[in-house]
Amino acid sequence: MPICFDLDGTLGHFSAGFVLLREALGGIWGQMPTVDELSVCQGSTDWEIVDELHRMRFGRGLDEAGYSAYETACVDRFRDVFTSGAQEAVGYGGILAGMHRLASARQVWIVSGNAPGLLAFKADVLGIDAAIPRLGSLPRHDRKDLLKRALRGGPGPHLYVGDRPHDLAAAQALGLPFLGIGEDVPGDHRSLPSNTEADCLVSAVEAALGVLP
Ligand SMILES: [Mg+2]
Repeated sequence: MPICFDLDGTLGHFSAGFVLLREALGGIWGQMPTVDELSVCQGSTDWEIVDELHRMRFGRGLDEAGYSAYETACVDRFRDVFTSGAQEAVGYGGILAGMHRLASARQVWIVSGNAPGLLAFKADVLGIDAAIPRLGSLPRHDRKDLLKRALRGGPGPHLYVGDRPHDLAAAQALGLPFLGIGEDVPGDHRSLPSNTEADCLVSAVEAALGVLP
């Protein structure tokens, strides 16, 4: 019964993430993508976004080698900024504690739009147990494809916990129940504030799964 959590905005946040993405690409491509170029990207995963920016810059799609170069450069930028103390990540303590409690009894996955190396870095910074599987952005996969992969072979009920309309849209496309975090994902699903307590998250997840606590 996988319960899948998005990372950014759901379990915590890393401010300036899109600045670092642009800087990482600037280092590889010789010039940073502009804010305007980034703002017209439709995708929600790193593969989709970097592929769209690559098409704008070079007139052709990204390949695996280009994605790998981006991933390495982006992890380096995040490592520089978030381990030097220049910026500090914010973890949502109650949600992280509740997720760990759920993981002791159920299958929990982190399914995020970050490139896998970046997801690993962020999960470690947020103190997420390494035993919880992490699935980051893969070439030619959108968020729905990633979720499908995480759920593959596991019997339901499943659940996706996310903070943005693109998380809700991916859950809806797969017929997955959805739990929102924060105020940026309107809809008629249940939502919790990012400062919610662990007990509250666990109860909400149990209710969304339709099982007794
Ligand atoms: Mg998010």
